[in-house]
Amino acid sequence: MGKIRVLIAKPGLDGHDRGALVIAQALRDHGMEVIYTGLRQSPVQIVQAAIQEDVDVIGLSSLSGAHKTLFPKVINVLKEQGASDIPVVGGGVIPAEDIPYLLERGVQKIFTSGSSTEALALYIKQLVNPEKEQLKSPEKIAHIGIAVQQIDHVISFYTDTLGLELEGVETVESEGVKTAFLKIGESRLELLEPLDNDSPIQRFLDKKGEGIHHIALETEQLDERLQNMTSEGIPLINEEPKQGAHNSQVAFIHPKAAGGVLFELCRHTEGSEH
Ligand code: ZN
Repeated sequence: MGKIRVLIAKPGLDGHDRGALVIAQALRDHGMEVIYTGLRQSPVQIVQAAIQEDVDVIGLSSLSGAHKTLFPKVINVLKEQGASDIPVVGGGVIPAEDIPYLLERGVQKIFTSGSSTEALALYIKQLVNPEKEQLKSPEKIAHIGIAVQQIDHVISFYTDTLGLELEGVETVESEGVKTAFLKIGESRLELLEPLDNDSPIQRFLDKKGEGIHHIALETEQLDERLQNMTSEGIPLINEEPKQGAHNSQVAFIHPKAAGGVLFELCRHTEGSEH
């Protein structure tokens, strides 16, 4: 197939297009054909340009705060012109609380000012080539990891006070931890006790004390996600999956990627009960 064609447009009145030009160049660097409409285009002009240029995707950028009216207008004009098969993605200075509103009105995805151009380029490639496997959302919270000094000292809170079922206690020598898994619906709580002073859990306890250590998300597409995050420049603790507790493959994302929260991605391999 030919090059992916993208129309980058700035609806509305704001007069800054540096961000849009940076995005246009980044997408060109990814081998895409980018048409930039210039400043202050009306929704009708944008849709006309998209149809004339036969683009695969429209990227709308807004810094003016007018995205809530202008992005849905572009979607409506596309419908009126029989071109609603052209997907629209949005970006710019867009507060998180406006994102659900825009998605409901037909914008495929919103990239905020914190998003990387790599993430945008990957998303567009997947959007335009649906035969390529799309990244799905992680399926569930597999477990929440809680650092404790000693499992035996706290276990009764979980089993008696909360009434959770203790599924098993497992020692993972390679990680320097003893773990206890408590089942809660589809998820688990994972108590983590350090085996010795070199254990990463001991270092966490020394620094922060007992408490929530990490959140683990279950994803079938562990390798694909790690590859994508690597190319997006997301800092990872493990670039390759490693063996985790409970017959799983796991990899940790660096907490500086997630506002101080340590995330684990895990995939349970064949033959394990979850
Ligand atoms: Zn974990």
